[in-house]
Amino acid sequence: MPLELVTVPCLSDNYAFLVHDGASGETAVVDVPEAGPVMAALAERNWHLTQILLTHHHGDHVAGVAALREATGARVAGAAADAYRLPPLDLALAEGDRVRIGSEDGTVLEVPGHTVGHIAFHFADSGLAFTGDSLMAMGCGRLFEGTPRMMWQSLRKLSALPADTLICSGHEYTQANARFACTLEPENPVLIFRVGSIAAARKEGRPTVPSQLSDEIATNPFLRAGEAALKAAVGMADAEDAEVFAEIRRRKDNF
Ligand code: ZN
Ligand code: FE
Repeated sequence: MPLELVTVPCLSDNYAFLVHDGASGETAVVDVPEAGPVMAALAERNWHLTQILLTHHHGDHVAGVAALREATGARVAGAAADAYRLPPLDLALAEGDRVRIGSEDGTVLEVPGHTVGHIAFHFADSGLAFTGDSLMAMGCGRLFEGTPRMMWQSLRKLSALPADTLICSGHEYTQANARFACTLEPENPVLIFRVGSIAAARKEGRPTVPSQLSDEIATNPFLRAGEAALKAAVGMADAEDAEVFAEIRRRKDNF
């Protein structure tokens, strides 16, 4: 039985995710921007939280951890590399480590760039990847600590997951990201179609997250830095992929 996923809007534009295993009753949350909405989502379903998984140390992803741990007794897991600046961890994780929810194992992927200790969680059987502020819907996180090359490698790692993987990322930034993507590939038919569905979803107040990896590969300019069309769009036809990625990230920072 696949894990059940619930997207929980928090703060103004953050998401937390509940991941529930029906057979064992185990429930994890990925990132805790604030405790209140997560507690409410748990109560609504009568689920008991057993684990808190953290993608990175930024306040808008961990601010509710202490209160949630206090209220539920859930164990906290996050990157070993960032243990010194994350809330106290019960489990310190590195590349290739496993986190288990019920009978399903998730794999830890190190995806530095936004921060140097950023990690993602991949649950292959259920087709879910929790990417925080690394790969985002139509975008990627700003490079606060890592280099463009580092982030490009992280994005390539994530884009190698099965194409039908649901990318559960940390923010509702999709519409602004889509406007930027259109400046680079105004004629990409998949992008044009996606912009329409994003607008419709937002108009109805629906989240655009999670998104399918295949859609990111077809429309997310940060995943497409290796494509000839993107290289041409930024006037870097002969440049290395990572350099094209750096230029796209620079343009987005100034967009
Ligand atoms: Zn962040
Ligand atoms: Fe964030």
